[in-house]
Amino acid sequence: MMARIFSRWCLAGSVMLTLLFPIAATAGVNVEGVRIWPAPDHTRLVLDVANKVDHKVFALSGPSRLVIDLENTTLKADFDKLDLSGSPVKRIRSAPRNGNDLRVVLDLKSDIKPRSFQLEPNQQYGHRLVVDLIDEGGLKARKPSEPTVTENANGKRDIIVVVDAGHGGEDPGAIGPRGTREKDVVLRMSKTLAELIDAKPGYTARLTRTGDYYIDLRSRTLLARKHNADLFVSVHADAFRTPQPRGASVFALSQRGATSETARWLAKTENRSDLIGGAGGVSLDGRDDMLAGVLLDLSMTASINSSLGVGDSILGRLGSVAKLHKKGVEQAAFAVLKSPDIPSVLVEAGFISNPKEEQNLSSAWYREKLSQAVFRGIDDYFQKTPPPGTLLAWQKQNGRGDGSVSQYRIRRGDTLSGVARENQTTVSELMQYNGLNDDRVMVGQTIRIPAS
Ligand SMILES: [Zn+2]
Repeated sequence: MMARIFSRWCLAGSVMLTLLFPIAATAGVNVEGVRIWPAPDHTRLVLDVANKVDHKVFALSGPSRLVIDLENTTLKADFDKLDLSGSPVKRIRSAPRNGNDLRVVLDLKSDIKPRSFQLEPNQQYGHRLVVDLIDEGGLKARKPSEPTVTENANGKRDIIVVVDAGHGGEDPGAIGPRGTREKDVVLRMSKTLAELIDAKPGYTARLTRTGDYYIDLRSRTLLARKHNADLFVSVHADAFRTPQPRGASVFALSQRGATSETARWLAKTENRSDLIGGAGGVSLDGRDDMLAGVLLDLSMTASINSSLGVGDSILGRLGSVAKLHKKGVEQAAFAVLKSPDIPSVLVEAGFISNPKEEQNLSSAWYREKLSQAVFRGIDDYFQKTPPPGTLLAWQKQNGRGDGSVSQYRIRRGDTLSGVARENQTTVSELMQYNGLNDDRVMVGQTIRIPAS
């Protein structure tokens, strides 16, 4: 992915150098394509421009309009082909202005606040001018934000899992050799995962995005906080410079270095997608109050430990349906995992840069299998350590599991005594509970764990 961007950059650079010098004075910019991405709190209009463009954006009211003036620019794209449904835009008009300039006018349903910035080329698009139409009315209407609390009939709350489909909108994420886009497969997989979570009593899922639009990384973790998440799971698909690497991986945040070169490289690529937010990421590290820093560090360490625990459980289940890229949970400085008190993991479902895995990730059947494994891993973890006040905690306390409470699937290297120790029980109790004649176990065998 990196190599491809680099070569495209180099190519663009050399072409520009040879073209710019002789005709710099007269060469204009063409708008070669337009896209629109409606999101819940804003709509993003993107113009493909061949190069950086001098522009001005301003809003007018009565009637509500937005004017985009582009200097020395020619329109080669067709605004009439845009699907404006779900956006505040009623109509888009354009006309040449002052000879070489272009004026684009958006007729709006209501006043909006505009924001514009330019984007560098990524793996899918070239230079772009982005105009965000921010629906302030919509934002205000949603404040103060109502936290998600879901209660069961008996007054016990659900465990809330926030599922985050990586990338979206103008940010395609990684792109496979056959053109499969990470943003699309991870959204489908996230929706499947959320359905599985919702289907199980004691769990509620929330998605950070439900459509094809971009949310910056900090807003994704803020959404997790708003929903009072017990767990944040960000779903991605890897890409690497070469087609060989494959396998699923699970990541947790590291405050220090990354555990492998791949982890470091991935964190850099995933974090880079946030440049797209335009506003720049807000860093948690900006705090200078020492006490706050220490407290944050402590809670971060606690949540990193829980994150590693959940990650371990997920890997345990993933291992039976997919090849694993690494056996253990990897750690790297992913911005999207920086929630000080919410256990957060990033699941890389496979390498979209590997032709076989690209094909797998494109299949609904495979995504379902992966999602099931991820959810079983999550469930394994919460059955063992249910958050206080939840239905699962209550079930564990009262020994009233729904049959799947505290189940463990034997993995390579496990012994029954190890499983007993892990769950604060004894070998003889496990044998009795599972109707076993001796303490031999097989890989893949499911062991029921009595509630302690
Ligand atoms: Zn990604």
